[in-house]
Amino acid sequence: MSIPMVDLRAELPLIEEAIRAGIDEVLRSGQFILGPHTQALERDIAALCGTRHAVACASGTDALHLALRALGIGPGDEVITTAFTFIGTAEAIAYVGATPVFVDVRADTFNIDPDAIEAAITPRTRAILPVHLYGRMADMAAIGAVARRHGLHVVEDCAQSIGAALGGRRCGAFGAAGCFSFYPSKNLGAFGDAGMTTTDDDALAEAMRALRNHGSRRQYHHDFIGYNSRLDEFQAVVLRAKLGHLAAFNAARRAHAAAYSERLRGLPLVLPDPGPEGAHVFHQYTVRTARRDEVQAALKTAGIASAIYYPVPLHRQAPFREACARVVLPATEALATEVLSLPMYPRLTAALIDEVCAVIRGVLG
Ligand SMILES: *Cc1c(COP(=O)(O)O)cnc(C)c1O
Repeated sequence: MSIPMVDLRAELPLIEEAIRAGIDEVLRSGQFILGPHTQALERDIAALCGTRHAVACASGTDALHLALRALGIGPGDEVITTAFTFIGTAEAIAYVGATPVFVDVRADTFNIDPDAIEAAITPRTRAILPVHLYGRMADMAAIGAVARRHGLHVVEDCAQSIGAALGGRRCGAFGAAGCFSFYPSKNLGAFGDAGMTTTDDDALAEAMRALRNHGSRRQYHHDFIGYNSRLDEFQAVVLRAKLGHLAAFNAARRAHAAAYSERLRGLPLVLPDPGPEGAHVFHQYTVRTARRDEVQAALKTAGIASAIYYPVPLHRQAPFREACARVVLPATEALATEVLSLPMYPRLTAALIDEVCAVIRGVLG
């Protein structure tokens, strides 16, 4: 592909020196897991999100799992979430033995519909798990209001949205816990797997800290069965080197999104809505068109990558499809056939965006 979906190598010159110095330091320190770099990263992420705590772990899926488990959600409980997301969102619910209840999204934001949440609440509902899909914040005011009315926890899936904010409040600071993925292609990506939870709740933070490390608060003393979900120092070094660039990288993504929209306006496409100021960090730039497959084929012929997130909604995936046989989610199902994500990464250029848009214009113009 002459234009890839993401080009992680393009950022390397900005961070390489800091990373090499940090890795050298770790090698010499002999401390490889949950050491000083991880602790510093936890402080940095808590500061970014404006939360009292951040707890590092091994992946975004683990972050969700640890948060749900620490909240005491388990068998017999229901967690309301979206089917228009990555499977990790629902896997975490299944891991604790709870049942994911999938409700529809709003077609204009791709995010969970607060009205649909209210309609799905039962006596077993314990939590709402919104996803800030593609980097666009879900409607946290409405979701928070539903949660308060019914005494439910909110756990945010912030895997795609680090740095996004609503009314000056960052994602990860709205619910009982925020859950972040640092998978390499995310807006803040490690050079391997990594994750983080954020919370203002001291007891929840303490529980997640113990859970990620074999249920241990004191070495070789175990209070409950936990997990091995720790962060290594090398990943913490990489993430701290990149964190200093996150604001600029997210600003670049917003500028690229605006450039795409300017060049694609007027075509028979639904363009993504950036929402209120700061609410979108464009992990993906995703358009909708009934002629999606045709557009994607033309891009491919031109050597331009594009991707479908996600072609099969979770209520139609093998692990959930039987339990969800009678679940119908019209907006989710329509989006799955119409969405197309275009190349997006901080070091993308106007010339490359021109190239992508010229091909799309050639098909739809
Ligand atoms: C990436 C992602 C996850 C899972 O994160 P991992 O670090 O890959 O485990 C969960 N939810 C969403 C929405 C994601 O994009």
